[in-house]
Amino acid sequence: MQSKATSTLFAGCEVGGTKCVCVIGTGPQDIRAETRIPTTTPEETISRIIQFLSDAQKSFGPFAALGIATFGPIDLHPNSPTFGFITTTPKPGWTFTDFLGPFKRHFPIPIAFDTDVNGAALGEWRWGAARNLNSFIYLTVGTGIGGGGMMGSRLMHGLIHPEMGHILLRRPTHETFTGICPFHQDCLEGLASGPAIQARWGHSPDSLPPDHPAWTLEAEYLAQALHTFICTLSPQRIILGGGVMQRAHLFPLIRERVRESLNGYIAHPAILHTLDEYIVPPALGTRSGALGALALAERAAHRP
Ligand code: ZN
Repeated sequence: MQSKATSTLFAGCEVGGTKCVCVIGTGPQDIRAETRIPTTTPEETISRIIQFLSDAQKSFGPFAALGIATFGPIDLHPNSPTFGFITTTPKPGWTFTDFLGPFKRHFPIPIAFDTDVNGAALGEWRWGAARNLNSFIYLTVGTGIGGGGMMGSRLMHGLIHPEMGHILLRRPTHETFTGICPFHQDCLEGLASGPAIQARWGHSPDSLPPDHPAWTLEAEYLAQALHTFICTLSPQRIILGGGVMQRAHLFPLIRERVRESLNGYIAHPAILHTLDEYIVPPALGTRSGALGALALAERAAHRP
């Protein structure tokens, strides 16, 4: 016989720029259903997610809560007229999309709505590389670059939410390639995202061998960013996920440059001696986002 705790189901949706991953379950060891839905137009994408969730409810029973972790920027302020919207995204057709509204109308249950990176961070905190920490960063490096995490045991929210991918960087001497961010050019995303690597070197990051000079430059940019985050936020750990970070050889390059860049100033053993445990890949691998959306739902059910 199932106990009440094991029978409480949650639904999570990770909404990315190219695809959405929806899961039904209670945690990493208990996923009852999962689907991938391409991110096309807002109307089609939202209606396909709602259809999947409705069908899943018929098969598995009601969910206690739903978690939505989406690309952004998004409006997280409940009193705002555009609360639950994806706002100023450059993604065609998605500017000022009411994402949360249709789900609220279909599912009268607690619904958590947050950034994809805060979702992934919460997943890592609940089941992965950030367990037992109260201040950490999750940074995704892929098609875009975004960062979230917790400070003082709270997911990072502020005026809107952090946009760590858009901090400004310093190009190395003789490096003439300007960043591709349409808003800032030489920001982290403009210089170090997957499309930036593609634009700079003429090859996709997947196809570049580990000894290609692209990776030295990539490590330099990411290390500059981590230097800034370490000095401003003082995280207890930094988790680096996303497609570009699937290239595991980047981790030692980044750690080395972070140590050189900080130059002994942050005199903590985590930086001085155990950087391998301080700058780490996600323990949930590519599942942080979807499982994080599930973790958002779990929290919403407990904190309606
Ligand atoms: Zn930018």
